[in-house]
Amino acid sequence: MELNDLYRDVILDHNRRPRNFGALDAADASVEGFNPMCGDRLTLRLKMDQDKISDIRFEGHGCAISTASASLMTEAVKGRTRGAALELFARVHQLLTDDAAPAAEELGKLAALSGVREYPARVKCASLCWHTLASALRSTDPASLPAVSTE
Ligand code: ZN
Repeated sequence: MELNDLYRDVILDHNRRPRNFGALDAADASVEGFNPMCGDRLTLRLKMDQDKISDIRFEGHGCAISTASASLMTEAVKGRTRGAALELFARVHQLLTDDAAPAAEELGKLAALSGVREYPARVKCASLCWHTLASALRSTDPASLPAVSTE
């Protein structure tokens, strides 16, 4: 099986059966994200255990890329610390936008998003959930610095 076929199958699978999809009771943060270029909407909720993301779920509707990306993201960041999750965001952002991106295999299943690089208009579909995660993490961080644009 070609790598591109494998990546496409991961996207299709996570779009059809999104992981961590649904409501989350007693969340510590609930943040909405919207991508006007495509119409993707999502609400991200998370629970923190001190500095660690102990649970994360999302709801909403959007294109296959945005849904699959949110599903893959929730799997990837659950159990990570705030800092580790933001570090992962930086690497995913690079994967989506930079041809000289680091080895995709280090990112595990998130590497499936690398094909989006060929379609610049879809980058926001894939990065919406990550921008939303970054604001959710900032909103739960007692030592939060003033918001920095991640564009
Ligand atoms: Zn989209």
